Amino acid sequence: MGSYGEYLGKDFGKLGFGFMRLPKLGDGKIDIEQTKLMVDTFMEAGLTYFDTAYVYDGGDSERALKAALIDRYPRDSFTVATKMNAWLGSPTEEEVKKQFEISLERTGAGYFDFYLLHAIQNNNIDVYENYHLFDYVRQLKAEGKIKHWGFSFHGTPELLDKLLTEHTDVEFIQLQINYADWNDETVASGRNVAVATKHKVPFVIMEPVKGGNLANPPAPVAAVLKAANPDVSNASWAIRFAASLDGCIATLSGMSNLAQVQDNVSYMKEFKPLTQEEQDVIKKAQEELAKIEQIKCTACHYCVAGCPVGMRIPEIFAAMNKYLMNDMMRAPRDFAKAIDGAAKPSECLSCGQCEGACPQSLPIISLLARCADALE
Ligand code: SF4
Ligand code: SF4
Repeated sequence: MGSYGEYLGKDFGKLGFGFMRLPKLGDGKIDIEQTKLMVDTFMEAGLTYFDTAYVYDGGDSERALKAALIDRYPRDSFTVATKMNAWLGSPTEEEVKKQFEISLERTGAGYFDFYLLHAIQNNNIDVYENYHLFDYVRQLKAEGKIKHWGFSFHGTPELLDKLLTEHTDVEFIQLQINYADWNDETVASGRNVAVATKHKVPFVIMEPVKGGNLANPPAPVAAVLKAANPDVSNASWAIRFAASLDGCIATLSGMSNLAQVQDNVSYMKEFKPLTQEEQDVIKKAQEELAKIEQIKCTACHYCVAGCPVGMRIPEIFAAMNKYLMNDMMRAPRDFAKAIDGAAKPSECLSCGQCEGACPQSLPIISLLARCADALE
């Protein structure tokens, strides 16, 4: 396999600065002064890839990029990626297409190096297709307003294969990849990488640290990493694992303070792929993760339609699985979403309808009781 970086015409540092979790001030606004320091530290290390999106922080992320980077550095010294979103808030086709000009205005970037259709998944691909957005970004490229186009993706490997077969001119994609989700049935990091490799489409990596979770992994995993090298951070293992994959353009880290930038830069400035010995350590960490109990719900939703209280069973179980993985950032957030306007696990009537419908024969009633204990 050739160098994908050359295919895209540039040699990027393997670390990308994700502008989705920027530091905030007491009033909830982005801390621009700290962001400037973070950008300076990143740029001084020779790293140049910045990732934002039309919807991040209601547009403030793109504005922060202008203030902290674009107004302060020569335009040809960095690379900007942003995204158009066709599903959040159910915009019209015209409104989605307008996002491009608004992003240009907010950032003052003049053009975008990388432009993405945002967060394509099985339940929103129709909107991207029906709004002719693939053709729209092709047109933007032909007009020289963007350099490269692609999409970020959260769907199934089957959908990814179909899209890359139908749209053979996709230049790159953005995938959720980390060592914990490598064999996960829903995220399917490993299978999505295999599809990208089959089509020889390079990828930008998001969530290499699984929303920060792998910076503080479950204790048995942390013990494996510590035993292998007590001097490096848990996050460094996760980011280097992702960046070592053949086909990786850049690994995004959504950095939230200067210390995180300094840690990331310390091992990504002169990136060295994982050695075979280090890959074996990751395998051991994956084995430890596999031992952690998970509810084997496949999110088929067969149980939901007949529930008299409208319990969002698969969403509650997904949040519980994050809790069992010690993902204390996302477990409460996802649980709150799952019960928003719907029943709480403790409101289950124990009627048993769902258990009769579950193809995985899950003991749903007792599992919901555990979810109530842990998450309510
Ligand atoms: S047992 Fe509980 S969750 Fe299952 S269908 Fe009945 S009320 Fe809904
Ligand atoms: S039927 Fe079973 S596997 Fe399917 S969503 Fe419900 S709990 Fe999960």
